[in-house]
Amino acid sequence: MSANIDQLQENMSATGAPLKGHPIQIVVANDDHTFELNEEALEEVLLQPHIRNKKVVVVSVAGAFRKGKSFLLDFFLRYLSADCSPDWMGDENSPLEGFSWRGGSERDTTGILLWSEPFVCRSGSGQDLAVLLMDTQGAFDSESTVRDCATVFALSTMLSSVQVFNLTQNIQEDDLQHLQLFTEYGRLALEANDNVSKPFQKLEFLVRDWSFPYEACYGEAGGKKIMERRLTVSNKQHPELQQLRRHIRSCFDDISCFLLPHPGLKVATNPHFDGRLKDIEADFTEQLQILVPLLLSKENLIVKEINGSQITCQDLVEYFKAYINIYQG
Ligand code: GDP
Ligand code: MG
Repeated sequence: MSANIDQLQENMSATGAPLKGHPIQIVVANDDHTFELNEEALEEVLLQPHIRNKKVVVVSVAGAFRKGKSFLLDFFLRYLSADCSPDWMGDENSPLEGFSWRGGSERDTTGILLWSEPFVCRSGSGQDLAVLLMDTQGAFDSESTVRDCATVFALSTMLSSVQVFNLTQNIQEDDLQHLQLFTEYGRLALEANDNVSKPFQKLEFLVRDWSFPYEACYGEAGGKKIMERRLTVSNKQHPELQQLRRHIRSCFDDISCFLLPHPGLKVATNPHFDGRLKDIEADFTEQLQILVPLLLSKENLIVKEINGSQITCQDLVEYFKAYINIYQG
């Protein structure tokens, strides 16, 4: 009898039981461009007894404002809530919930948010890991906010094991320049600690609204083609462009790229769109079905490492405190 109830509860979470948790702002950029850590909230998330000693996987999504980062993270939430079940996308009429993604044109506070409930997932090797989702917010609308954004990007790169760099339409030269600035902020901050391993783990260039599928197909293979084209160093390039490319490669253990199609006009322009699958182009959801497991399936989880050692949720709290100090004031 009790086994049946357990079974029932498992089934419920795989078929869209109410989402547990909420977004919490952990790092806030103040108007005077100082950064503040909400320690209490951070500890509430990471020091929960059932996860505090588990190894942590941190998946972050960063990039310019209003480009679908939070929207994407809500699909990550769905996948993890459904315990990675093959029909994780759920029914076609459910609104998409989680990190807020319909903020109109008003910008939210610059900073870093976490989902309050880390997910416990058994890794390919049979170890229980805590998976944490990180959202970032910021805009490049003035000199000073560019600096704040670089800081938010650097912090989220330093604190995550997978950084998804969310871009629209293509990987442009100025995206690479921004990435160089962001990672340089982070690399300098970490330099004293280590000189053996690369400072960061996985970088995923995620190109949204890719519109040249005949040139490079949607997904990972097309992404690889575009990335190789953009990141290859050649003698014909100006030395600065060569240096930029070497720098980016030297910062990450692993770099990949994924091309997502446009999700359709309802998603992009309809003010009443609430995220239901019915209103999203099938091409887009098809590619999401591939992308999300690439980042979050049990086999693909990447434990956060600092100086070559895997860390726990509890360790991560200390690194948050140490890293925010670097950028204080
Ligand atoms: P964020 O500021 O980067 O977190 O962006 P949001 O997730 O809040 O999304 C901003 C808007 O972009 C919303 O109205 C979404 O419906 C829309 N959107 C989400 N994904 C995509 C996409 O892949 N392409 C386009 N064109 N719009 C998207
Ligand atoms: Mg957002």
